[in-house]
Amino acid sequence: MPTNFTNVMKLSLLAVAFLLSAQVCAQPKVAVSIMPVHSLVAGVMDGVATPDLLLPGGASPHTFTLRPSDAKMISQADIVFWVGPTLEGFMKKTLAASKAKSVALIDSVGARLPPREGGVWDEHEHGDDHGHDHHGDHDDDHGHAAVDPHIWLDPVNAQAMVGAIEKALVEADAVHAARYQRNAAALREKLQALDKELAALLAHDGKASFIVFHDAFQYFEKRYGLSGAGSITVNPEQKPSAKRLVALRERVQKSNARCVFAEPQFNDGLLNSLIEGSQAKRGTLDPLGTREQPGKDAYFLTMRHLAQAAHLCLSDQP
Ligand SMILES: [Zn+2]
Repeated sequence: MPTNFTNVMKLSLLAVAFLLSAQVCAQPKVAVSIMPVHSLVAGVMDGVATPDLLLPGGASPHTFTLRPSDAKMISQADIVFWVGPTLEGFMKKTLAASKAKSVALIDSVGARLPPREGGVWDEHEHGDDHGHDHHGDHDDDHGHAAVDPHIWLDPVNAQAMVGAIEKALVEADAVHAARYQRNAAALREKLQALDKELAALLAHDGKASFIVFHDAFQYFEKRYGLSGAGSITVNPEQKPSAKRLVALRERVQKSNARCVFAEPQFNDGLLNSLIEGSQAKRGTLDPLGTREQPGKDAYFLTMRHLAQAAHLCLSDQP
């Protein structure tokens, strides 16, 4: 009798251990392309697991090339979150060949905008084969309409993205469904508060026009009523020729922009020589949050620092 009892105990302990390990195995392996999106995914997964981040801080998704370790990260993942082929073209093939469930978050955003063209807007091209795919793609269900992929720079879009992240995680991992849902609801509330905060900060900055180094800020400008006047595409790894520099300088002067915003990967020298002879002030906008620590707060810090940098340069203060 005692032996039987011990055996039963042993069996039930084994069963419990098995169930526990099954639960641990059930949590999906998740990889995310760029840091702001990684931050939103980390927020929904908070308390369950930490997602992997593909792009290191400072790397541009437009010009990135996949390293073997990144390819491995994709092939070992159960779910991969990315914006979509118009932004992270570098991972399209590897992702399609992997078993991972691909979640292109651009599909979750209702108000997609076409890239700006003409006038002072440079084409959104980054000078090599890894640049934007302007003509859509065959495995892209938006047909041939080109879409501006910088969707995360609007916290209202981010709320929709959180919804898609939540849905994919709940489907893949029913065990933690309640946790994902709770996290996602809290995250959406925080994003609403962030939107109000940024709107208040930028409320009086709508009149001052500005020029950016790459046309990434359309969603941000639309949301907060800012007046982007144009973009000058400059490759951070290559100094523009003297002739091009003169042409760009002329454009800055003609635009009457109050500010010219560079991105963190550019050196000050280039920016200084561009605004030479114009009234424009200089600033830096960082759409990828390259200086933030990856994690659930990174998105909020990225957006706050972006709005503060814009406000600092655009507001009337000298
Ligand atoms: Zn871009």
